[in-house]
Amino acid sequence: MLKLENVQAGYGSIIALKGVSLNIEQGEIITLIGANGAGKSTTLMTISGVVKSRSGKILFNGSEIQDKGSDEIVRMGICQVPEGRHIFPQLSVQENLDMGAFLRKDKGGVKKDLEYVFDLFPILAQRRHQDGGTLSGGEQQMLAMSRALMARPQLLLLDEPSMGLAPLVIKQIFEIIKEINESSNTTIFLVEQNANQALQVAHRAYVIENGEITLSGDARELLTNEKVQKAYLGI
Ligand code: ATP
Repeated sequence: MLKLENVQAGYGSIIALKGVSLNIEQGEIITLIGANGAGKSTTLMTISGVVKSRSGKILFNGSEIQDKGSDEIVRMGICQVPEGRHIFPQLSVQENLDMGAFLRKDKGGVKKDLEYVFDLFPILAQRRHQDGGTLSGGEQQMLAMSRALMARPQLLLLDEPSMGLAPLVIKQIFEIIKEINESSNTTIFLVEQNANQALQVAHRAYVIENGEITLSGDARELLTNEKVQKAYLGI
């Protein structure tokens, strides 16, 4: 579904991605793990067109997207939930969700998807008329994920969904990531510093260090990999 071939990207004189190659198949949960500053967010932002690649190719369902604008990439079916959530704080939960669906014309489908996200996150149904900015951190993460789902993406990009949340909420978020993948067959690319949880839900994983992929494989196998355990699992 998505293929990165030797992608380079950066900011001014900083080269953040030094030739990243990876692939994601339809229906998978893939995680990208790495330390602070390794290039995880840059990888996601390069896919979603927020950061422009300097060389290499990004193929989505066989079409090159590295030169397309971020709005066109959303329309093609890739939706990103950025780090730090970025919901609209002055808008209600319902209005935030409406914004997620604003490109869609199929009213019936939108209504169904609204029921779907309220089933996934019943707390959002209860808080439907509350301003987004007054939700707790975990609820805002749920809203940000739901808003992305309202665009009915083929590929959902999640940037550190567990950041700053309490352990119980983190557990819940990861369970829901799995449920989204299983119930709607949405392909998920998950960027995480919480390597343990990410490797538990993912099918396959890539490790990024200093802008380069240094390891990849089955997520369960990486959980037992000595290098991964030392560097990312604190074992
Ligand atoms: P974190 O987990 O801390 O968010 P990350 O793995 O997501 O880290 P990136 O945010 O992709 O890492 O950063 C990769 C490199 O690019 C780092 O050296 C970072 O300092 C640099 N960088 C990121 N954003 C910018 C920017 N807007 N301007 C300049 N340099 C940037």
